Formats: sequence, structure tokens, C-alpha cells
Amino acid sequence: MSNKVIQIKNLVKRYGDLVAVDHFNLDVREGEVLGLLGPNGSGKTTTINCLLSLLKYDRGSIEIFGKPMKPSAYATKAQIGIVSQNVAVFDELTVHDNIDYFCGLYIKDREKRKKMVLEAIDFVGLNDFVKFLPKKLSGGLLRRLNIACGIAHQPKLIILDEPTVAVDPQSRNQILENILELNKKGATIIYTSHYMEEVEQICSRVVIIDKGKNLAEGSKEELKTMIKTGETIKIDILDLSKEHLNRIQNLENVNAATFKNKILEVKFRIGNHNLTNLLNYLGDHQVVYGRVLSELPTLNDVFLEITGKELRD
Ligand code: ADP
Ligand code: MG
Repeated sequence: MSNKVIQIKNLVKRYGDLVAVDHFNLDVREGEVLGLLGPNGSGKTTTINCLLSLLKYDRGSIEIFGKPMKPSAYATKAQIGIVSQNVAVFDELTVHDNIDYFCGLYIKDREKRKKMVLEAIDFVGLNDFVKFLPKKLSGGLLRRLNIACGIAHQPKLIILDEPTVAVDPQSRNQILENILELNKKGATIIYTSHYMEEVEQICSRVVIIDKGKNLAEGSKEELKTMIKTGETIKIDILDLSKEHLNRIQNLENVNAATFKNKILEVKFRIGNHNLTNLLNYLGDHQVVYGRVLSELPTLNDVFLEITGKELRD
């Protein structure tokens, strides 16, 4: 038995002249939290919509649970939970009734459904709001309702498309924890985002997407060793002359060095003794320094090196 939950091969989707998804390949393995990381407009939602047969595509093939995915694949769809980028709930139904409606699309047994709906409410922490209409909920609570509607039927595969956009930090953390909890309970997760911090936080494997192309994939660690960017070192220094800064820029493996707000920031390429060389330089030239911080490369550095542009918007 293959443990592939999803296999996308050579997917192409055009909108007129625009190639939104460009020969995109992706395997998703059972039990993983797969992060689809790319800037706005990179083709994440289009890929998800093709995957779910919500959108026709021009080329390629898609298999879910080892079977070709089709609009009529009802049994497959029943095993998938989708949390869409735009909150999709009924304005005239209460929190409880919205979740009950979406769960009822797949779970016909009333007793079973009742239990599942209560579990979903509890899971996202909406117990105090079950009788509320969506318009009475804050942005964060509304996002949680959107999630509860997508997962109440306890699907094996859960796809969340930018579920934390415009959410306050507290709700955001709860949402991320919820996702990890769903994964622990056995669900395979696809998580799309343009926030590299979130992807770093929860994803076991990451696919970097830009202009509809799968540019790189691997664990965070694998992606970071693919690039030539090494650590960034930040050092508190009261005063540093332009001359010293220039010379630091010319030290071995230095990509860039800046001095701002009494902090020297040096970005290195991967290499040995980077920190030692820098501290030796400062010591040899009687530059007095304070705290020294070292930061490992981020997924943003990976994205920058591969595409030549920043991931942040
Ligand atoms: P993401 O989800 O990564 O932000 P999308 O999949 O929404 O990206 O969009 C990919 C590209 O396709 C963008 O350039 C976007 O403007 C374009 N696009 C998305 N939906 C449509 C549509 N219905 N008609 C025309 N162009 C679209
Ligand atoms: Mg999108």
C-alpha cells in the first residue's frame, strides 16, 4: 500500500493568458503537515481548488487516496476537510447550526453527528458562542467557526488555505495549536500560507511555490541547507566607523553588513569560523562590543535566494 495521500502530476491551470499553476508536482504523505509556502498570487488557492475538483484544469493528473480525483468522487470528498481562505458560512445560521449543516453533508447519523458537532465546538473553543450568528463574532472567532465547519466530520485529510490571515495573535496561536492537535489525532494536513514563521512553526515538510511552480521542497532543515546563506550575527556596538564597516563587508563569507541603531548586523554565507573571524576583527581593532546574537537562516532567506525576492508582502 502506498502511503501517498495526494499525488499531483504536472498540473497546469490557465486563466486566459495567465498561467496560474505551471507544471506543478506534489506528493503528500500520510501523517504529515505539508506547508505550501508562497507569496500572494503564487497559485496556492488555485492549486487547492484544482485538487478538490472545484476548478477545471488544463493539464495534469490528481490522485487522492490512490484514486483519480473527480467532481463526482463523493466518497473521497467525505474524507476531506476544507477550510477555505475566505470564510464560507451561512449568515442566517447560528454557530451551532452552521457546524451542524456542514457536518451533515457527510454524516447522516443524527446521534453521531450531534456528538461530532459538540466535539468540534469544544475543539475550537466556541462553547460560549453556540447561539451567536456569524456577524456577532470577532474576526478570530469567525475563523475558528470556519475551521469547525471544515473539520467537524473528522476527515482524514484536512486542507487549510491561509486560515490565519487578519487574525489576532492569540487566535492565531490557538489555530496553529488546533492544527497540530488534528495532526496528532491522525489527520494529514495541507497548510497554505505566505507567513514563513507559521510554516516554520507547524509544518513537517515545506513546498515553496512561486508563479505556480514548485520551486523547492523538503523539511525546513533540508531547505536551509540547500541555500548558501548561513547565519546572521547581530552585535551591540556603541560606535563603528564607516571604514570598519567596509572592512567587515570584505571579511570572508560576508554577504552584507550594516550598522544601524547601535547594532552591527552581518549576514554570512555558510562557512566555518564566521563568528570567530568577526569577533577577532573587532578585538584586533579595539572595537568595544556588547551582546552577540546569532540567527539561523529563515525560510524567507531560502525564498529570497531561490527567487531573488522577499517573501514578505
Ligand atoms: P494565491 O492563493 O497563492 O494567493 P491564487 O491561486 O489565488 O494565488 O492566484 C494565482 C494567480 O491567478 C494570481 O495571479 C491571480 O491573480 C490569478 N487568478 C486567481 N483566480 C483567478 C480568476 N478567477 N480569474 C483570473 N485570474 C485569477
Ligand atoms: Mg490564496
